[in-house]
Amino acid sequence: MADVFDDDENETEQTVSLNEYLEQVEHQELEADLVLGGDEGKECTYAKGYMKRQAIFSCLTCAPDGNGGVCTACSLSCHDGHEIIELWTKRKFKCDCGNSKFGAGYCKLLPSKDSENEENAYNQNFKGKYCTCGRPYPDPDAEEQVEMIQCCICEDWFHEEHLGHESTNEVKIPVDEEGEPLYEDLICHKCSSICSFLHLYPPTIWASDKEHAATPSKEKDVAATPSKEKDVVSAPSASGSSSKLEDGTSDIRDADPAAVPDVNAKSPHDDKDVVLGEKSVTCLLGVDLSATELASEKSQPMFLAKNWREALCGCAKCSDFYAKKGISYLLDKEDSIAEYERMAKQKRDEKMQQQEGAELNLLNNLGHVEKLEILSGINDMKDEIRSFLQNYDASKPITSNDIHQVFENLKKRRRMD
Ligand SMILES: [Zn+2]
Ligand SMILES: [Zn+2]
Ligand SMILES: [Zn+2]
Ligand SMILES: [Zn+2]
Ligand SMILES: [Zn+2]
Ligand SMILES: [Zn+2]
Repeated sequence: MADVFDDDENETEQTVSLNEYLEQVEHQELEADLVLGGDEGKECTYAKGYMKRQAIFSCLTCAPDGNGGVCTACSLSCHDGHEIIELWTKRKFKCDCGNSKFGAGYCKLLPSKDSENEENAYNQNFKGKYCTCGRPYPDPDAEEQVEMIQCCICEDWFHEEHLGHESTNEVKIPVDEEGEPLYEDLICHKCSSICSFLHLYPPTIWASDKEHAATPSKEKDVAATPSKEKDVVSAPSASGSSSKLEDGTSDIRDADPAAVPDVNAKSPHDDKDVVLGEKSVTCLLGVDLSATELASEKSQPMFLAKNWREALCGCAKCSDFYAKKGISYLLDKEDSIAEYERMAKQKRDEKMQQQEGAELNLLNNLGHVEKLEILSGINDMKDEIRSFLQNYDASKPITSNDIHQVFENLKKRRRMD
């Protein structure tokens, strides 16, 4: 976790090279865009209801008990200068800004709201506490800020060393040689008992140090990535000229026998029975989870493989079970952070392309004199930077003072013209 919005207060006398500085800015922008999911932060999201996922902020100035959360736009417009905690994304949340949790504070963007959003869930993160250790992030007492991992069920964040019980051995986290995660989701030790049914699935559902996915075919992963799933149906060329798959199969991944758990040997592996979609008839597990005595495991955290959610059975009985346990969102592709970030990246790319287009358009629509004005401004800047670089010792880092000086000189130059 890092700051979504850069805090000026934290910027002490740091010195960085220009390239490092630009890289940092770019990285922060990307990270912010991934969290905000393409939300421009201009309108309160309350009207959109309980959104599948959005960036949420807790304001301890307005709701000191830490039991209210606001959307991005509200954090900027209604809580500027307040003590804000960035919570990253939360699922199924409706903006609380200005409702009964906020005392006298009112919402500048959308004042009329119900007094409470009953379906909102508030974990300790809203109070600025994380993990089993209940420490804040960033932790003022820690020498170094260590990254935390989010549980996909309770959405709390955990330090690696605080996963699992003290009595048990250290938890092994599946990462590659570079330390990049080989898992898609974590289910923390506190939530693992809710999900003990996952042990009924084949072991490919678990992330391991050896790279493998819950749905093994690599080709299929690539094919399933484009946003328009309808196009994907025609992807397997094996079906020859007929582009539509039979049996009303809506998604090619459903037709892949490899994705079907082989837990129950009696389960007929006839393709017609295997078709799941939203309402499959045949249960992949062949058991009624609600009526099954599930061994309550020694609550160990679970690390799930890439695309594990796609392997989950969506039959009526399993769906019932998920609903009772309050985890129906696991069947919703858009609930996963991976999907949220994928969509965010797509929106970001579109936005950047539009921006580029808009800049070109602007320049094209300008008159000749205006174009020259802008170009001469750009030339002034180039001159100023060039003269700065000429007098500058390349072995030394550029300080923010240097940059200020360049712009000061530029201002003077413009005034003289
Ligand atoms: Zn709002
Ligand atoms: Zn506030
Ligand atoms: Zn507001
Ligand atoms: Zn901790
Ligand atoms: Zn959890
Ligand atoms: Zn089922």
